[in-house]
Amino acid sequence: MMDDNQAGPVWTAFESQIGGSTPRPAIFLDRDGVINQNRSDYVKSWEEFEFLPGALNAIAQLASSHFHVIVVTNQSAIGRGIVPSPVVEAIHDRMVREVTRAGGRIDAVVYCPHEPKRGCLCRKPAPGMFHEAVARLPVDLPASVFIGDAQSDLLAARAAGCRPVLVMSGRTTPEMLETWDAAIRDIVVEKDLLTAVTLLLRNE
Ligand SMILES: [Mg+2]
Ligand SMILES: [Zn+2]
Repeated sequence: MMDDNQAGPVWTAFESQIGGSTPRPAIFLDRDGVINQNRSDYVKSWEEFEFLPGALNAIAQLASSHFHVIVVTNQSAIGRGIVPSPVVEAIHDRMVREVTRAGGRIDAVVYCPHEPKRGCLCRKPAPGMFHEAVARLPVDLPASVFIGDAQSDLLAARAAGCRPVLVMSGRTTPEMLETWDAAIRDIVVEKDLLTAVTLLLRNE
């Protein structure tokens, strides 16, 4: 029997990938709670994938920037046997198509299919998916930003050595924020992806 404890994340590059070998910063985006509505019972079909207000606009604003745009998402529903991986990949294809149609660009999607008890190296808060991105694309990690909606996203960004930005459009409530370590409480917090991206591009 094959032991896939060390199996890595799944990487899909899309055609809109920006070229060149000079390292560029990336805007890493979590998926659920950042791009689309988070669901406690997992997004199991395209019908359950609901773009958050302003998300398409935000990604469109990034399209003409020098940032790689890479979606980084835990999809343990696959490892738990709730959603088959081809369904998740079809959802990602459709998501990228809708983003492109709205004028945006997603260069790659990387996901961890493992359930938590597997103890893989890619499930956030572990930084494995960021290392995968660096292996695949010329990414300047210290200049990169990860926009996520959960504490595990912030910890993953810290572990990977990029800048975390928290958005309040998903799993984190203001009450939860107050219980966090000072170390991760002291981070950039934005309402949603659109406000986060607008601020990032303004500070470029
Ligand atoms: Mg999330
Ligand atoms: Zn994993």
